Amino acid sequence: MIRVGVLGAAGKMGSEVCRAVHAAPDLVLGAAIDPFVGDVASLAELVADPSAASTTIDALEEASVDVVVDFTHPDAVADNVRWCLEHGLHVVVGTTGLASDAVDALGELAAERDRGLFIAPNFALGAVLMMRFAAEASKHLGIVEIVELHHDQKADAPSGTSLATAAAIRAARGEGAKRRVESVETTSGARGADVGDGIRIHSVRLPGLVAHQEVILGGPGETLTIRHDSLDRAGFMPGVLLAVRAVGSRPGLTVGLEHLL
Ligand code: NAP
Repeated sequence: MIRVGVLGAAGKMGSEVCRAVHAAPDLVLGAAIDPFVGDVASLAELVADPSAASTTIDALEEASVDVVVDFTHPDAVADNVRWCLEHGLHVVVGTTGLASDAVDALGELAAERDRGLFIAPNFALGAVLMMRFAAEASKHLGIVEIVELHHDQKADAPSGTSLATAAAIRAARGEGAKRRVESVETTSGARGADVGDGIRIHSVRLPGLVAHQEVILGGPGETLTIRHDSLDRAGFMPGVLLAVRAVGSRPGLTVGLEHLL
């Protein structure tokens, strides 16, 4: 049995993770933590196993958890991960918006402590395939724009998935092709954010959305659109549980669900 702690347990993703862990026969929900929910009684009403509810991170130690899952906030995640690694726990991170130097530093800490740190910008299997297909297609249709669409409560923009997609495309594309469209913005931001090498990301935030992304590739006389839609947060859970089961046997930093497929 793997004992699991969840940080951000009252959140949209965290509460779904609590339910998925509680329902898995080989996992135990040891601690479900969210410090800002009010009191433990209010949190207990939200999480799958009320006895696991806590508002302090110390509960992870008290509950003897093996693996911690973090779906919190870009401002909180680095301190949370550091605390977990320093207390000998393996960590699975779904929170996006972590700066790359913070990821590197936490990866070094994980290696020093011989603990697993697994970070995925997207736990949906279809999204991982979308990134892979987009990288492959960009070798042939080299001019690419990404449109990512999320619910209006999302804290960071652009999304971690869109940044990971752009990085995969940059790595896959050959040198020398014309990859940048020159145009003049008469209104600032109209062309989205250039995240390097001419790849532009456009972030849409609207109530009603969950998590969606289109990668649009253009060539002379044709375009190819690759689209992924997360319609329900349950769609992230097979990937999260895969990471929870694998992280203990992968010391150091692993970034991306593709490494577990
Ligand atoms: P959410 O509903 O706002 O949930 C985040 C929860 O974490 C909130 O209850 C928040 O409390 C709590 N929290 C904040 N700081 C905390 C701390 N230090 N310790 C414990 N809990 C803390 O957000 P969400 O939609 O679940 O998304 C959470 C994160 O996951 C975001 O970064 C999002 O981009 C990411 N995400 C990743 C994936 C993926 O596949 N990798 C998929 C979906 C979402 P307050 O509300 O009181 O601040």
